[in-house]
Amino acid sequence: MIKFLDLQKITAKYADEIHDAVLRVVDAGWYLQGNENKTFETNYSNYIGTQYTIGCANGLDALIWIFRAYLEMGVMKPGDEVIVPANTYIASILAITENGLKPILVEPDIETYQIDDSKIEKAITDRTKAILIVHLYGQCAYTEKIGEICKKYRLKLIEDNAQAHGCLYKNQKTGSLGDAAGHSFYPGKNLGALGDAGAVTTNDEKLAEIIRAVANYGSSQKYVFQYCGRNSRLDEIQAAVLTTKLKHLDEDVALRQEVAKRYINEITNPKIILPKISNWKSHAFHLFPIRCTERDRLQAYLTEQGIQTIIHYPIPPHKQTCYKEMNHISLPITEQIHKEELSLPISPVISTLEINFIIDTLNKWK
Ligand SMILES: *Cc1c(COP(=O)(O)O)cnc(C)c1O
Repeated sequence: MIKFLDLQKITAKYADEIHDAVLRVVDAGWYLQGNENKTFETNYSNYIGTQYTIGCANGLDALIWIFRAYLEMGVMKPGDEVIVPANTYIASILAITENGLKPILVEPDIETYQIDDSKIEKAITDRTKAILIVHLYGQCAYTEKIGEICKKYRLKLIEDNAQAHGCLYKNQKTGSLGDAAGHSFYPGKNLGALGDAGAVTTNDEKLAEIIRAVANYGSSQKYVFQYCGRNSRLDEIQAAVLTTKLKHLDEDVALRQEVAKRYINEITNPKIILPKISNWKSHAFHLFPIRCTERDRLQAYLTEQGIQTIIHYPIPPHKQTCYKEMNHISLPITEQIHKEELSLPISPVISTLEINFIIDTLNKWK
């Protein structure tokens, strides 16, 4: 069986360094908010190209804290609107609704799967305060036009960079393109911890200061509480593991891009729609999404042949039970993508033989 993602193999690749990092923390006797957090935050800021990184418990929290900080600053008020792509992982939408803000869903482009920038302006009202772009599947969602819209309407630009570590827009890393970005280090992400972990990156000092406080009980001085915060800290073991893995991120993303190049050049079955790539550096290939009108039959065939695939995602956010108030909305492009999408195995540790077999098996399918 070719696994969709072999996490054991991903960790094994850097096993010695990761073991050293974990033991370093175990032996240090300091497990939260110590030097490992500081080191990782500095290195990650340098990598992304922002002034500040604030580690937190997971990627969902990172996004929640960005909106929460804007509420605390008075930049946003409950009921304000945030424009977001309709085809995203639920976390992007939850971060908005969790803060009493209203998600305004915008359709993606059917070829890139990223928010369709020609549909954004129509969605803007006098309550719109921000655009949350999601670099879905690892591909850059930012466009010059989105930047111009944010300027013109004075909107905050927030990035959901959970799937796009190592992705570039021109010479800039995603996560440094807007006012703030949320990152997830969930184990399966391009930069994955050995458990839950996340971070916010930003150049806004005030925002950074508030996020650091709200993610730590609302306190920036021990036993003094300025906000009603939560406990959402990044622990030292995860920070140490992330510092180690960050050193290898670019090398691993390059390997993902090599796998994607082979898929794109060698999958020739006309029933399969391949992702459209305009710039290789602008796709970090967290996932390799294909589309097929007979998706479920294709997935069953691949399973039978020993290839594990995953659908990202089977049900769009606006059709989920938790968002009953949005269930009536019709978003045909988003719904089509959710019906047709299938993600092939891709990772820095997938073997040439496995890739050969996947390509062959797909090309033989009738
Ligand atoms: C994984 C993911 C998140 C949330 O990250 P967690 O660390 O799992 O909370 C947010 N947005 C997107 C697009 C994701 O893929």
